[in-house]
Amino acid sequence: MESFSKQDKRTQYCGTFTAADIGKHVAVTGWCQRQRDLGSLIFIDLRDRTGIVQLAFDEKTDRSIFDAAFGVRAEYVLAARGTVRSRGEGAINPNLPTGEVEIYVDSFKILSAAQTPPFAIVEKSDVKAELRLKHRYLDLRRPDLQRNIMARSEIVRITRNYFAENGFLDIETPCLIKPTPEGARDYLVPSRVHPGKFYALPQSPQLYKQMLMYSGFDRYFQIARCFRDEDLRADRQPEFTQIDEEMSFADEEDIMTVNEGFLKTLFREFLHKDLETPFRRMTWREAMDRFGSDKPDTRFGMELCDVSGVVKDCGFSVFKDTVASGGSVRGIVVDGGASMTRKEIDSLTEFVKTYGARGLAWYKVTEEPTSSFAKFMSGEEVAALLAAMKAKDGDLLLLVAAKNKVVFDSLGALRCEVAKRLGIVDKSKFNFLWITEFPLLEYSEEDGRFYAMHHPFTMPMEEDLPLLETDPGAVRARAYDCVLNGTELGGGSIRIHTTEMQNRMFEALGIGPEEADAKFGFLLEAFKYGVPPHGGLAFGLDRVVTLLLGLEDIRDVIAFPKVQNASELLSKCPSPADPAALEELSIAVVRMEEDD
Ligand code: ASP
Repeated sequence: MESFSKQDKRTQYCGTFTAADIGKHVAVTGWCQRQRDLGSLIFIDLRDRTGIVQLAFDEKTDRSIFDAAFGVRAEYVLAARGTVRSRGEGAINPNLPTGEVEIYVDSFKILSAAQTPPFAIVEKSDVKAELRLKHRYLDLRRPDLQRNIMARSEIVRITRNYFAENGFLDIETPCLIKPTPEGARDYLVPSRVHPGKFYALPQSPQLYKQMLMYSGFDRYFQIARCFRDEDLRADRQPEFTQIDEEMSFADEEDIMTVNEGFLKTLFREFLHKDLETPFRRMTWREAMDRFGSDKPDTRFGMELCDVSGVVKDCGFSVFKDTVASGGSVRGIVVDGGASMTRKEIDSLTEFVKTYGARGLAWYKVTEEPTSSFAKFMSGEEVAALLAAMKAKDGDLLLLVAAKNKVVFDSLGALRCEVAKRLGIVDKSKFNFLWITEFPLLEYSEEDGRFYAMHHPFTMPMEEDLPLLETDPGAVRARAYDCVLNGTELGGGSIRIHTTEMQNRMFEALGIGPEEADAKFGFLLEAFKYGVPPHGGLAFGLDRVVTLLLGLEDIRDVIAFPKVQNASELLSKCPSPADPAALEELSIAVVRMEEDD
């Protein structure tokens, strides 16, 4: 191996060479993508983060250099100098941006050798995720991941610029904090200095950004790391990044406008696409009724139709009884869906069962109609149902009868699933929506109490305030979510800023004065000293990047992600702690789980 010296320093990145560079004497550094030995000729494809350039060696090349090039294998780290020349007719590679040229080498160093990697460093690897994540530093060398991570960096740069240009101050908030409730489990960090006491890692900077408003900073933003100990899904990680913001003396319109400006800028600068603003706004109620979801994908129709009133007295007892017991019967119309096979409908039935539905009632509108339920209904009852759903020839009606939550969950997901299967989603569309007027509170049957739907610092809508004590479930919040093509990109709210209102909220949540004081005493105390009206929002950066790149898995835009069971395969964490460290923290581990 040779040492890296001053003259080896790159004059240009590999992927940037064009015919305009012909004749230049240059220095390049990088990894060997591929070495081809053609006897009297050797070619090496040299790769760095920008792409590949071909190094050429022939019998006129200095013998020691030629011999060194002969021994080069994939992933060796190299430094080369030479003259850029045309590849000549027939040798041009039109698939490579640098394909017109090559570097004819006159000075060459192997800076580091490499074993054969456990998988090839190529675009779109189909190697198992575990193996790739175990060797993430190699995985990250692959061109697609390099592009993703670089794109993320660019998105962050545009974000910082936008918020700085709009008067937002970039302020860091602590990571060792008192728990703030965002509805997930906290990661706890034991304190050595205070035995038996713990910090929490922030689920978000929520209370700190609010306190920055109390301090008069007026406009805050931060690219903030957040930690939530939740079960992972494809679009969740235990540690993730938010574009976190807060504004004083602002209402929902100001916050939405600033963020529409942000997304417009991001789309223009990153995707070269012009977004139309303002985005469409839709209340939570309307979103649920029409799409069965608070993050509706509006790129296609198949809206929900409530037929409870039409079937409430019909002969089909499932429909009738559901309505009588306070549930509803709703359905979607699949345009041309009558051609679906029984097997396909059965698999949709299985699909809705995962959302708690007991079954899926269906009706094919054909010359000789077939249906799972029509035989229990009279001709007029069927006709009334078809009319209510505006069914036409060739349609397939899919209905769910259950309590409202199950109906919305299952039909909301079903319309997306059917659209996916039929391939009717227009992938070129970016349908942005603001969902507003969320319920303030959500009742948990299990715990017999209300929880904050967003978080307990969210301001109720003024006109619903009288209901807070009498009908808390009906109170709407000054909260809003930004939704793109069926994915929630972010959300926020106008915050409570008076002691009186905050206490009423705690009461509605069943948080007594003592608990409120122990958990949020500092907040209530701060309210005594002049707090401006304020509100904010946070976007999930990982999700934003994933969507902008047209990807599905957020792990593809995170340099070092965790896997399903929250472990990181590269460094193998979590891992047992040193007994001495535990001792210092006054911690005894009483139960050890064996690693799988
Ligand atoms: N802290 C909230 C969240 O993480 C966002 C906000 O209200 O600003 O969802």
